Amino acid sequence: MKADFTAKLMKWNRNLNTRAMPWKGEKDPYKIWLSEIILQQTRVEQGLGYYERFIRAFPTVKHLAKAPQKKVFKLWEGLGYYTRCKNLVATAAFISKEKKGIFPADYETILSLKGVGPYTAAAIASFAYNLPHAVLDGNVFRVLSRYFGINTPIDTPAGKKLYTMLAHELLHRKEPGLYNQAIMDFGAVVCKPQQPLCGQCPQKNDCQALKYNIVKDLPIKEKQLKKKNRWLYYFIVEIKKDTVLIRKRTGKDIWENLYEFVLYERNQLLAPGKKTLTPVLKELFGNQLIHIKNISPVFHQQLTHQTIAGQFIELETETIPVTMRGYEAVKKTTIKKYPFPKFISAWLQQKNKPLQLF
Ligand code: SF4
Repeated sequence: MKADFTAKLMKWNRNLNTRAMPWKGEKDPYKIWLSEIILQQTRVEQGLGYYERFIRAFPTVKHLAKAPQKKVFKLWEGLGYYTRCKNLVATAAFISKEKKGIFPADYETILSLKGVGPYTAAAIASFAYNLPHAVLDGNVFRVLSRYFGINTPIDTPAGKKLYTMLAHELLHRKEPGLYNQAIMDFGAVVCKPQQPLCGQCPQKNDCQALKYNIVKDLPIKEKQLKKKNRWLYYFIVEIKKDTVLIRKRTGKDIWENLYEFVLYERNQLLAPGKKTLTPVLKELFGNQLIHIKNISPVFHQQLTHQTIAGQFIELETETIPVTMRGYEAVKKTTIKKYPFPKFISAWLQQKNKPLQLF
């Protein structure tokens, strides 16, 4: 799957990537560095003019180092985040004085420059020197989390570690610079934040987010989780093929007095498959023999203060599991008489059997 991802990305880049940027294919580390610093907090369209004016005014790092600070800041005017400009001036002076005007050519030294983080260092190292360092920016996080269906929040240490390792494994060893540019372009024009072009995506056959209908839920950020995202996994426990377990919702929560199936709630995506469900089934039903019949795609519902998402997992068993206190077994034929929240009736309707559940 990983090798396939990289091969398809490179093929897309060769044949279909038409995204043009003036610094694309650039090998001069100074120009790459300049463009990356400008783009750190600025959109491409806004940064373009600044990049061109800077290159005209200071064609090399030595020119930039020699220029009066006032002139550099004047040229930066309007771009905001002036620390970037301060770092630009300091780094140009450092390279000019300490490195004889020669831009460093190894990742560690590039990373040690003021204002250069892991992303910028990887971009310079791979674009200018073809060194095998994978970039990890917003585009890359999005593409990887969707394609591999990763629900670890991207803004946590665990997430950063996981994505860094994955990005490194996927990197094209012979053409890391080309690969890095390709994945960022792919995220910008195909796997876009809003309305990604899944229909014409070369990765669509293996994309986990598309498969489970969770494209718009990924990538996940911890900050978002704090905004109350609820993942509801409903188990439709069918006993001897003619009854199902339901219960009335009580307590001060959404959908009070409405009915629901057996609920397993999480604050993050579970991506249910046979492997992830085994411990959940054990937790819910003990050692009871249960057969998984079907797993639905993800359903969504936006409430005023909560984002609800979840799936419906149909199960079959022979007796009511002893762990299911609080649930009642009702005939499937009577299920239509019970009031369900919209989230559940949407699934019932999609099954297209409004009068008879199964
Ligand atoms: S199928 Fe859609 S979500 Fe998946 S990688 Fe392609 S564009 Fe992104």
